[in-house]
Amino acid sequence: MSGLQVKIGLECHCQVTSLKTKMFCRCSSDYRGKPPNVNVCPTCLGLPGSLPYLNRRAVEEALKVALALNCKINRKMVFYRKNYFYPDLSKNFQISQYDFPLAVDGYVTINVNGREKTIRIRRVHMEEDPGRLVYKGRIDTSPYTLVDYNRMGIALIEVVTEPDMESPAEAKAFLEELRSILEHLEVSDGSLEGSMRCDVNISIAGGTRVEIKNISSFKDVEKALAYEIMRQRNLLRMGREVKRETRHWDEVRGITVALRAKEEEMDYRYFPEPDLVPVEISDDFIEKVRSSLPELPSARRARLVEQYNLTEYEARVLTADKQLADFFEKLASIHGKPKVDCSVVINELLRLLNEKNIEVRDLKFTPKEVADLLFMVDEGVVSWKSAKYILRRMVETGEHPKKIAEAEGIRRISSVEEIEKFVSKVFEEHKGDVEAAIKDDKVIHRLVGEVLKETRMLADPKITFQVVSKRIRELRAERGLASA
Ligand SMILES: [Zn+2]
Repeated sequence: MSGLQVKIGLECHCQVTSLKTKMFCRCSSDYRGKPPNVNVCPTCLGLPGSLPYLNRRAVEEALKVALALNCKINRKMVFYRKNYFYPDLSKNFQISQYDFPLAVDGYVTINVNGREKTIRIRRVHMEEDPGRLVYKGRIDTSPYTLVDYNRMGIALIEVVTEPDMESPAEAKAFLEELRSILEHLEVSDGSLEGSMRCDVNISIAGGTRVEIKNISSFKDVEKALAYEIMRQRNLLRMGREVKRETRHWDEVRGITVALRAKEEEMDYRYFPEPDLVPVEISDDFIEKVRSSLPELPSARRARLVEQYNLTEYEARVLTADKQLADFFEKLASIHGKPKVDCSVVINELLRLLNEKNIEVRDLKFTPKEVADLLFMVDEGVVSWKSAKYILRRMVETGEHPKKIAEAEGIRRISSVEEIEKFVSKVFEEHKGDVEAAIKDDKVIHRLVGEVLKETRMLADPKITFQVVSKRIRELRAERGLASA
């Protein structure tokens, strides 16, 4: 990609998953896996005569996020009605914020390939989630649309950035940092399906802004942006115009599709929600929340580097997922070899998690069991190679490493007598290689490999090499040859 400058801005809608109830009523916010339209009441459905009342905890959670994003907090915030007709909103307006949002003018520092960059936050505001539309197959060919209002009224925090990102990779880095911040604050669990959704806007070479709505995963944000950059560049190259419009990301086909001409702000006819009073946010409240903030990812990274002697990169990989960082710290506290423990977590465990497409919380064992496995390696009971295999079986079965090792006959063979038996067998079966090894040291490694294979890789490679070399030297001596 060259030449034309890309500008990307994000609007992230983050569900406050730490709350048990919705934003303006007492309906349960636990909607995942529930039958449709059971978590609803006159207030969240917007039936005539019902009145919303603000969940104080929702404000507290949003304030945490705003402070963690280094924002200026408005002492008075006002809720507005955003009016639009769409089947996911039974009351035809969404309670949101417009003028006087909760907070403005923050920033987040991201790191892409070792290069730091500051992304400005334009505003952080609160709003309620709309319902959920369920399509049969693809949005543009579905013969009907089903609607589920269980999600309607769930508290959302919307984080709007300035168009400071210049590549899909920067957008992804921002989203990962935001997700990590929300998880460290324990406000929103980014691993829940649909808990973080994104609208992106993108323009090329100062041209028209195109918006892509409702992308539900980070990977897809990166893919949708890459596709959209290519589409717009192709239009510009052909001398055609990029239309100002809202597009939909079709994850199945991997393309964006035009949905509608972009609404202008005036189309929403924003006006202050007459059923809710403006909310005063006192200095005391802000200070109380500020002092309750936990350690955030940037501070944690610095501490991990300092306390465990990790590299900046290792600390970054760990803190990209709070649960992974927690797992590492627990493991290091039990096993006590942070460099090894970090390598096991980010190289072995993380690879298995990605391969199986599961989260740390889905693991059927704790850091204690991984420490037990690493103690087995330290004591020479199993080889490092076997340990990797056992870890894989742990992820698959949740069994204790000792039990897996016993059940599968995995141990470390380090007795010289025992290894000699395997060596005799291999020398008997590979006479040609033995002859070659007598003449050439390099062939010894081939024989060692055969012996290890014979022991199902359980033998200690170093001792095996010594035993094989000794045998070859003896054979050379028998024939009156000097060792090479
Ligand atoms: Zn309700």
